[in-house]
Amino acid sequence: MRILVAGAGGFIGGHLVSRLLADGNEVRAVDLKPLSEWYQVHKQAENITGDLSRREVAFESVRSIEWVFNLAADMGGMGFIENNKALCMVTSLINTHLLQGSVEHGVKRFFFSSSACVYASWHQKEATEVHLKESDAYPADPEDGYGWEKLFGERMCRHFEEDFGLEVRIARYHNVYGPFGTYNGGREKAPAAACRKVVDFQLDPSQPIQVWGDGNQIRSFTYIDDCIEGTMRLMASNFSKPLNIGSSESVSIQSLYDLICENQEVENPKYTYDLSAPQGVRGRSSDNTLCHSVLGWVPQVSLKAGLERTYNWIRSEMVMSEKS
Ligand code: NAD
Repeated sequence: MRILVAGAGGFIGGHLVSRLLADGNEVRAVDLKPLSEWYQVHKQAENITGDLSRREVAFESVRSIEWVFNLAADMGGMGFIENNKALCMVTSLINTHLLQGSVEHGVKRFFFSSSACVYASWHQKEATEVHLKESDAYPADPEDGYGWEKLFGERMCRHFEEDFGLEVRIARYHNVYGPFGTYNGGREKAPAAACRKVVDFQLDPSQPIQVWGDGNQIRSFTYIDDCIEGTMRLMASNFSKPLNIGSSESVSIQSLYDLICENQEVENPKYTYDLSAPQGVRGRSSDNTLCHSVLGWVPQVSLKAGLERTYNWIRSEMVMSEKS
């Protein structure tokens, strides 16, 4: 099949291109960033630098394509999305133009990467295990900025299917982590930031690890291999409504740090807690009842195993950049 991956220079996009090529597809990979900044560049793909928020670029990218995966977004972890709401919302131009282009060029199926940030805030006010099911997105009160853009994107996909017959698939990803992603610079998410901070502590134990918030916030984290497997299964399914792709293994942010330190045998880690830092909702995790019934599958990789692989990659990147 001829497949477009929009946002292919990013974390999930890079892994998806790898999987699609391994499965024998022809892949067109497009991202705003210059190739030198892509996390993974696959030589067998047609790699293009372009701004998909521009109508003509989006339309050209979907020409003679059968499946579109839209993973392109101006986004990051809590530190980014809480301080860049307008930029997050401008991302809706990418989805708008890719959807319009897909209809014009007869694309068969369109994937939209939504987020757990669409879930209504009142379900997530307590630091307890809250397993969010797909219906919990309404009545709507999503994360301001980023969450509204994702919820709007989901509805836009739904109406493009109803009005123009474009088949859509929509995943609500829950905190995806793994190698070949952002771990510094302000866009990193909690697991990558935690791995980086533990590496820093190992290098200089006089500086305590700084945790954002009180550490009691509850989350679930999805290893990248599970994210890609779920994405492929969803795209191949007949299910066109939003579906959670996320681990249901809930932990507090403090336990996330404890797990990394335990894995790496870090003795007596010291912490400080920055209560003024962005921290998002208090409790959020994925309910996988629908995912199991639609895909016959749920995420498999334990947080302990996923963190070990992620930590090893981040540590080797940090050591390499120290040397250069
Ligand atoms: P990422 O930031 O690593 O990748 C997104 C890519 O989109 C970047 O490489 C960026 O350069 C590219 N991009 C941005 N604007 C563009 C434009 N105008 N034209 C072309 N490319 C553009 O993010 P990711 O973690 O790989 O996330 C992929 C998708 O999954 C995003 O839509 C994100 O919102 C969604 N998502 C991710 C997570 C997660 O935990 N990683 C959770 C929920 C949803």
